[in-house]
Amino acid sequence: MIVAIVVTFFLLTPFSICQGSPSFNQVKNFKNEADNLQTKLNRIVGEYNFAYNEYVEIVCAEKKSEEKLKKLKKELRTREEALNLRLKAIYMHEKLSFLHVLMDSTDFNDFLSRFYVCEKISARDAKVINEAKRLRIEFQKENRDMEVKRIHQRALLDRLSKKQKEMEGKFEKAKTLLSGVEKSPQVKSRIIKGVRIKCFPVANPYAYGNSWLAPRKGHRHQGCDVFAAKGTPCYACVSGRARISHSHNGGKSIYLNGDDGDVFYYMHLNGFAVTDGHVEAGQVIGYVGDTGNARGGACHLHFEVHPKGGKAVNPYPVLRGVG
Ligand SMILES: [Zn+2]
Repeated sequence: MIVAIVVTFFLLTPFSICQGSPSFNQVKNFKNEADNLQTKLNRIVGEYNFAYNEYVEIVCAEKKSEEKLKKLKKELRTREEALNLRLKAIYMHEKLSFLHVLMDSTDFNDFLSRFYVCEKISARDAKVINEAKRLRIEFQKENRDMEVKRIHQRALLDRLSKKQKEMEGKFEKAKTLLSGVEKSPQVKSRIIKGVRIKCFPVANPYAYGNSWLAPRKGHRHQGCDVFAAKGTPCYACVSGRARISHSHNGGKSIYLNGDDGDVFYYMHLNGFAVTDGHVEAGQVIGYVGDTGNARGGACHLHFEVHPKGGKAVNPYPVLRGVG
């Protein structure tokens, strides 16, 4: 992370770049500032992920409520139509003053109650009325619940937008802090959880948490989101064949088929630095963005790891091993 780069910078970067040899205190202050910034970024990303998960859950719950309301509405209409027919029949054949009862009632429930107490109503009619009444109460309750969910959803969107702005501000600050630092990634072969990886897929500064299997619309998250400013370079984490792709959810994406057989997905890119073909570990292949279904949210790289091209596994430990 930032700290690793900072230490590397002061150990390896020619002094000419930083206009003379930095003092021990300068190095210490710089490191402290970078550490503080990284801690804040990690916290913000954690809060953002938490709010986002809650947001997805509420959107899914709202969708279920909408479906339930639709079903209830249909059922209620059928019951009310049946009830109307019965009321008409009672009015026509049993000489009940339908209009009198109707005009005196204050609302639909009152209207039903009036009929319910009417001795002319048979047990079968009472059943129809009770069922319509139950459905209407259920419908009203579901409608209220839905409104609560919508309010909660709006509050979460507000929170997400605040966190996103906070994150963007911190990334800008971190970029300024690291502006003189050498940009090339550290390439070193490592095997983590059976997956060979040579460098972190995103350039500094970045922040991420374990978002594997977090709730998503209709499925569980199959990758790990690495947050960074829009346009931050993405590195090939291994040498292999890159294939660029565009999809509705993934937006601009790269599938990197490693020379060892492991496959890595890079999604929501802002742009590509390569075309289809072989790339080397550490080479810039694309740039962090918010394309696909990440549009409007905080810019991040959705990173997936598929050992030997099979099912996705949690990239978090793999990423932790290199960044
Ligand atoms: Zn993702």
